[in-house]
Amino acid sequence: MKTATRLVHAGRDPAAQHGMVNPPVYHASTVLFESLDALENAAANPFRGIYYGRNGTPVQFAFEDAVAELEGAHGAVTTCSGLAAITVALMSVAESGTHLLVTDNVYGPTRKLCDGLLAGFGVETEYFDPTLSAEALEALIRPETRALFLEAPGSLTFEIADVPALSAVARRHGVAVLADNTWATPLYFDAIGHGVDISIHAATKYFVGHADAMLGVINCREAHYPRVKKTAAAMGYCAGPDDIYLGLRGLRTMGQRLTQHDASARRLADWLADRPEVARVIHPARADHPQHALFMRDFSGASGLFAFVLEPVERARLAAMVDGLALFGMGFSWGGYESLILPINPERMRSATVWEASGPTLRVHVGLEDVDDLIADLEAGFERLAGRASQTAR
Ligand SMILES: *Cc1c(COP(=O)(O)O)cnc(C)c1O
Repeated sequence: MKTATRLVHAGRDPAAQHGMVNPPVYHASTVLFESLDALENAAANPFRGIYYGRNGTPVQFAFEDAVAELEGAHGAVTTCSGLAAITVALMSVAESGTHLLVTDNVYGPTRKLCDGLLAGFGVETEYFDPTLSAEALEALIRPETRALFLEAPGSLTFEIADVPALSAVARRHGVAVLADNTWATPLYFDAIGHGVDISIHAATKYFVGHADAMLGVINCREAHYPRVKKTAAAMGYCAGPDDIYLGLRGLRTMGQRLTQHDASARRLADWLADRPEVARVIHPARADHPQHALFMRDFSGASGLFAFVLEPVERARLAAMVDGLALFGMGFSWGGYESLILPINPERMRSATVWEASGPTLRVHVGLEDVDDLIADLEAGFERLAGRASQTAR
């Protein structure tokens, strides 16, 4: 079945819930067992049956079934945030004395996790240029290397790694391939199909889609699923049933939303590229993106997040531009229905590569507003940037 159909039907079992279309949301800690037999049977399979609130409720299993089916994974594991999903995935492969290879364009908190907590536990992290060749990557693999962690494209600077080539090298050396697939979602990048073993999603973003819940989910190949599941359980990570419900509800419309985010973002990116105030636009679907060929080969769409670099400008002018925007909010968690703009400093979050930009870099999330209104808002912003209009109050 095609993706749009799977988005509607995956993880649903109305017959098991009085015919109701959506699963119930049970609020639970204690689960009562009617007999010693029932208790012992439940204990034999604590991670899938109904056993204890922290181990999952029906809405969690429905969400996990749906997400795993979308990405062709053996199984999915839900966590309380995207960062928790990254933490669980890394803890499932790393142990004291081991070595991780992590892409230099990785999400900032992932870097903090590796350089802080994991380093403290004796796990060494080495960062590499996201555009590294497979041969160069192979030279970095050591006997103690346990994982290759990718993020394609990176969520600030949008470099795209050659995931199939890098994954093939890792596989040859018995190194697990982890990827943060939040930007593309399972709909636009088939991570498992391109060689990834553990595909991580901040479901907070496009799955939830409405900026109202924190949620993470980890899709695993069969060989990795038990360890990821046990790691999440050992750490006591669980998501609240209401938040999981929002993730499952959001998933049903994610295809339609992404289609619109994609179309509007491409239109806005092209408009920005023609502006004299803009030094360059960084959007993988544009022909001028350095890894556009990889994007065309491996991805079936682009989401609503990209960046652009301004010509050099003083901070007060930049502030006048962004402070006066009426439709673009300033904030971090993208993937919702609303547009965002965020000045970013990628140079502070890399160590293996150098970020070069003539002026300030802005990251945009293009929401579901009419793109003509978004363009008008930015056009007025550019007037303020140039000092041609007074700053309008929000
Ligand atoms: C937001 C984000 C995360 C973390 O998700 P949270 O749910 O906010 O913890 C991880 N990776 C990427 C690429 C993100 O954008």
